[in-house]
Amino acid sequence: MDYKDLADLIFPEAKPISYYEEKYPERNLPEGAMVVRFAPSPTGYVHIGGLYQSIIGRTLANQTKGVFILRIEDTDQKRQIENGVVQIVDALKDFNIEFDEGMINETEEKGNYGPYKQSARKDIYQAYAKYLLEQGKAYPCFATPEELEEMRAKQEAAKLRTGYYGVWAKYRNLPVEEAIKKIKNGEKYIIRFKSMGNEERKIKHHDVIKGNIDFPENDQDIVIIKGDGLPTYHFAHAVDDHLMRVTHVIRSDEWVSSIPLHLELFRALGFKAPKYAHTAPIMKDDNGKKRKISKRKDPEAAVSYYHEQGIPSEAVNEYLLNIANSNFESWRRANKDKDISEFKFEINKMSVSGAIFDLIKLLDVSKNVISKYSKEKVYADALEWAKRYDEELVEMLNNKEYSLKVLGIERGNQKPRKDIAKWSDIKHCIIYMYEDKFFNSDETYDFGKISDKDEIKKILKLYKEKYFNIEDDKQTWFDKMKDLSEELGYAREVKEYKQDPEKWPGHVGDISTVLRVALTKRQNTPDLYEIMQVLGKESIEKRLEKEYK
Ligand code: GLU
Repeated sequence: MDYKDLADLIFPEAKPISYYEEKYPERNLPEGAMVVRFAPSPTGYVHIGGLYQSIIGRTLANQTKGVFILRIEDTDQKRQIENGVVQIVDALKDFNIEFDEGMINETEEKGNYGPYKQSARKDIYQAYAKYLLEQGKAYPCFATPEELEEMRAKQEAAKLRTGYYGVWAKYRNLPVEEAIKKIKNGEKYIIRFKSMGNEERKIKHHDVIKGNIDFPENDQDIVIIKGDGLPTYHFAHAVDDHLMRVTHVIRSDEWVSSIPLHLELFRALGFKAPKYAHTAPIMKDDNGKKRKISKRKDPEAAVSYYHEQGIPSEAVNEYLLNIANSNFESWRRANKDKDISEFKFEINKMSVSGAIFDLIKLLDVSKNVISKYSKEKVYADALEWAKRYDEELVEMLNNKEYSLKVLGIERGNQKPRKDIAKWSDIKHCIIYMYEDKFFNSDETYDFGKISDKDEIKKILKLYKEKYFNIEDDKQTWFDKMKDLSEELGYAREVKEYKQDPEKWPGHVGDISTVLRVALTKRQNTPDLYEIMQVLGKESIEKRLEKEYK
């Protein structure tokens, strides 16, 4: 009896691997095309690091006319949730990330290299496990959990490396006859890889991001097929990335230490290894300390956060590319109006130590992104956000014609307004423009420098009666503000005032502030002339009267 008999006994139905090699041929793609994949477990949750990797994968596939695949890694059946795939697909779609191949929802998929869900690939893994068994490169292991526990305790007591390797690998050299007997007796087993590595020897490896690294060889006889017939991550990785003809494995650097094992598996299976790019985790500055963004501690770790806050996906994508490639910032400076898809991303320029993700900087990017939007786009996107998160804002925006005017203030010109960083800011930024909101709000008036009630009344009264005319153009309006200031004994020009501050109670800027606060309850707003044009005569008069009566 030989290895072949053992392999046939364990996997009688498995097809020869040549079947799969033919079924999934080398891809016919242009030179340099990158085939990359995002390979999450179907937990429904997308971490900012997952989005980061997806953006990188999508960008590289686009740039090289390659393929981007969504593969669902569900071999750990405990970690799944209902609709876990759909939630991932939808979360990424919110950031305009779509896949060329892979799962579309829980059951459907697209592409010729599937199935794209590991639990549906059982036959494939078993065929390759059988292939290893036939050559004596894998074997059944009958160790019970108790036996393994005992082994571990002994190793720990003797201060040795733990694991199933070398002399500790009890079933590694079990004669085939005995293994067959045990299986026929119904004893439980799993399949292990028979490592030929030696811990004392080193392998050299070139990682696309980390550069040259060396590691001790792998000598662990790791499990490749578990008791439930499904593969472990390591084995599935080798089989899937080979058969899907993936050229670059871009994954988080928690996997970098598995490189010796993975390279050994590829060799034993007769596969050409892909290139590896291990990305450093996204970090956060926590009071001067750099640490990983954590699902437990940081709400911004979940990509759903950005959606809830109403930060446009374009801004998040731009910021992630920005921290992924240090030359992005200078590219953006030189190409202010270009779409990020025109940026030439280079994976080997990624940071080795982990880029810092700074929410404040993201919001700055977002302010710029939104400042370039047309009022129609701001309207449409804010409304879509509001429908999910803010009923009051929906009600305000329902008055479409007026809202477009409000959102058009300081937009579409050379220096557009930059106070809106996210859709959840917008209500606060525009609420005073809405009549009933303005009159019913509990925001109070803070006039700033000129605080005397009678003086304020005097200013507003004179303005309304003598100077206010909604028909005025901007220059006339502005000149009238100066005339008003002068008439009230204030400096016409700020410069004039600064030369001799004792001479006047204030200047034209202080007078404008009084008007601004009376009309908006804010000391800082976009251009007051534009605001007044949108408010219109009636509303302005009502607001002015409210204050000085
Ligand atoms: N399912 C693995 C994970 O989520 C994928 C790692 C990989 O990309 O190979 O960590």
